[in-house]
Amino acid sequence: MIRVFDWLELLVKKFYLWCKSNKSIHKMNISTALETRSESKCELCSATNDLTEHTVPPKNSDKPEDQIVVCSTCLAQIEETSPIDTNHFRCLNESMWSTVPAVQVQSYRLLKKLESEGWAQDALGMMYLDDATLEWAQAGGDAKVLHKDSNGNILENGDTVTLIQDLNVKGSSLTAKRGVAVRRIRLDPNNAEYIEGKVDGQHIVILTKFVKKQ
Ligand SMILES: [Zn+2]
Repeated sequence: MIRVFDWLELLVKKFYLWCKSNKSIHKMNISTALETRSESKCELCSATNDLTEHTVPPKNSDKPEDQIVVCSTCLAQIEETSPIDTNHFRCLNESMWSTVPAVQVQSYRLLKKLESEGWAQDALGMMYLDDATLEWAQAGGDAKVLHKDSNGNILENGDTVTLIQDLNVKGSSLTAKRGVAVRRIRLDPNNAEYIEGKVDGQHIVILTKFVKKQ
């Protein structure tokens, strides 16, 4: 009986040492500045194991201000190698209040992905990002390019818009008249200011500031 206990004790000790060494290996992946800032916790969900640095795109430096400390569970979902787990990301309700812009940006993007959930939508509504941080959050990553009409309404592919002034169509004698409806518009995926549509049978590019959603 005693022998069994000895053996068990040894096993527990070994396991403890293994955990300890593992932890120090993980810590070595993280710069001292990040380790201090994050208190060696995932900056999204506060997990303490399997931590790594993650640069929040489109930033590509290894400066601490461009990086967050994340656990492997969060990282897999950020990089979409694992399906998103809504319950896991309830943690965003706390991380969104971080004072670190990189953590705010990552929280914002994940909340955007979860926007169909009421709680995520509420969180986004409460979230405040300064201009530079919001620009970062909306740049690259998977945030969409948002097209807005002259009133700030969001436009979608297939919408019908009305021209709010006469427009001379470049490279033709056509004038697209104020009040003309343009049906089934297409959004330029790379430029939030451009949409495309047909006026008088002619395919034209229109600036979003000259249209109004119907
Ligand atoms: Zn995490």
